[in-house]
Amino acid sequence: MKHNNQVFDNVLDLVGNTPLIRLNKITSKFKGNFFAKVEAFNPGHSSKDRIALHIIEEAERKGILNPGDTIIETTSGNTGFSIAMVSIIKGYECVLAVSSKSSADKIDMLKTMGAKVYVCPAHVSADDSRSYYQVAKRLHEEIKGSVYINQYFNDLNIDAHYQYTGPEIWNQTEGKITHLIACSGTGGTISGTAKYLKEQNPNIKVIGVDAFGSVIKKYHETREFDEKEIYPYRIEGLGKNLIPTATDFDAIDKFVKVTDEESAHTARLIAKTEGLFVGYTSGAAMQAVIQLEEAGEFSKKDNIVIIFPDHGSRYMSKIYSDKWMNDQGFFDSINEAAAKTIQY
Ligand code: PMP
Repeated sequence: MKHNNQVFDNVLDLVGNTPLIRLNKITSKFKGNFFAKVEAFNPGHSSKDRIALHIIEEAERKGILNPGDTIIETTSGNTGFSIAMVSIIKGYECVLAVSSKSSADKIDMLKTMGAKVYVCPAHVSADDSRSYYQVAKRLHEEIKGSVYINQYFNDLNIDAHYQYTGPEIWNQTEGKITHLIACSGTGGTISGTAKYLKEQNPNIKVIGVDAFGSVIKKYHETREFDEKEIYPYRIEGLGKNLIPTATDFDAIDKFVKVTDEESAHTARLIAKTEGLFVGYTSGAAMQAVIQLEEAGEFSKKDNIVIIFPDHGSRYMSKIYSDKWMNDQGFFDSINEAAAKTIQY
């Protein structure tokens, strides 16, 4: 990962080293200094470029991956896009087993990036042979020399953020960071970044963001898997209905839960106030910050870093569509937290 030269050998040289951008208007009434780590500046427009590149390069180093080999994953989201991008440059086949719930746009985008996409029925259990988990597993067994990224259960997911995201934030804040706020999906971003930062300064507070409808926060508090916590929600990439081993629960101090509606409004507010066109989970992370501020979490001298995981362009037919917002009933009530900060 290098940014020293003006001319880059290929797009992968632009992975990582994303900017830390001060938030001004949206936090103007808050105590503390707020900075966003804007992962949309990665060439694949999300933090997942980091793990795709790191996991693939580790497999190359170990001699597991050779030119022409196949890389398999089960996602139609950011990770799929990043793996497809890395595969093009490095000359691998990229095979993605995705759920039939994935939008046609997403599937087209992955195909554009050279991926072979297997669309698997959404409404079957994870152990059904037709599910995308089982299809990916079977393909991995059948295709000799294939690598299965398996981001929820791959320690290298944490390691990518331990090696890169953590040190970047430490250097960008000159060691003055006091709080890290990050969404938890696989948990790789928050766990790896937290581990590095806490090794530098154990007093840094690490706060995870979880969705209502996900088991992660409750598991953090009780270490018990509570099925009652699980119900459908709309934010993609945040929270989970299982416990990923890529989450290091001991590295995280606490979790905050956010709603679909408030997160959507807050993402729109970030665009309108800071000119940053970021994704749904960036709105979720910012929404958690608003809640924490209201609860008196921060003081004047604190330096709070918030991870904004991806770009807004992936959500044009969702949170950035007035029709979608209206269909969800999100325009029925004005989001209170957002309204308190600024009217839009
Ligand atoms: N936001 C988005 C948009 C994502 O795709 C993800 C990854 N699932 C996350 C946040 C959470 O990152 P992590 O998986 O590293 O916890």
